[in-house]
Amino acid sequence: MSSRTPLMAGNWKMNLNHLEAIAHVQKLAFALADKDYEACEVAVLPPFTDLRSVQTLVDGDKLKIKYGAQDISAQDSGAYTGEISGSMLAKLKCTYVAIGHSERRQYHNETDELVNAKVKAAYKHGLTPILCVGEGLDIRKAGNQVSYTLAQVDGAFKDVPAEQAESIVIAYEPVWAIGTGEVATPEDAQEVCGAIRGRLAELYSQELADKVRIQYGGSVKAGNVAAIMAQPDVDGALVGGASLDADEFVKIVRFRD
Ligand code: PEP
Repeated sequence: MSSRTPLMAGNWKMNLNHLEAIAHVQKLAFALADKDYEACEVAVLPPFTDLRSVQTLVDGDKLKIKYGAQDISAQDSGAYTGEISGSMLAKLKCTYVAIGHSERRQYHNETDELVNAKVKAAYKHGLTPILCVGEGLDIRKAGNQVSYTLAQVDGAFKDVPAEQAESIVIAYEPVWAIGTGEVATPEDAQEVCGAIRGRLAELYSQELADKVRIQYGGSVKAGNVAAIMAQPDVDGALVGGASLDADEFVKIVRFRD
């Protein structure tokens, strides 16, 4: 049994306004008990416009739910219209920030170089990256999922020192499984998550690799999460659609029940 605490994180994507966000987090907080937080770390990644409301609720009610953003600017400040900086997220006491989600890579042309710059920006401001990697369908069909994903890992960690890298969370999210209802088999998830851990051992050390939490993401639901979590190198899930349903997300958090 690994000593890594599983992290269940809900990526809300572009859903829930700030009022809906409050209601949703209240529902989660009401349902989750101390024993859930002992077994699992629970986080939500709301849209930027919800973060202040979520912070107020979490701070005011001393909730154990963590929260973070879905993206970060590689820049610190200045003439970058529409961007949100790491210092702004840190001021809102975000713990996490998702970086390199496939929807950012696909619709906003985010390259491995930009993802690397964002990882560094996150660390600069004391945020923990949830680095998203994973292959598309054509690459999976060609059997190149491991080499493709490891190249993304190499790019993201370029010049990132071990003291920072050891706290990262990596989400392996095969693009063909995101929002499609087509979940990877537990063996598929383990193959790539295990390879990612192996690459961290090569880039840094086995000790560091053993500390890093690697999540699976892609159509995770209450009904399929236990089998995926049973894999030795899977330490949590990044949950999109199913995280918008509070009851379903709570069941995912309670994957051991
Ligand atoms: C995601 O957005 O990271 C994701 C995994 O989405 P879904 O769970 O809806 O496939």
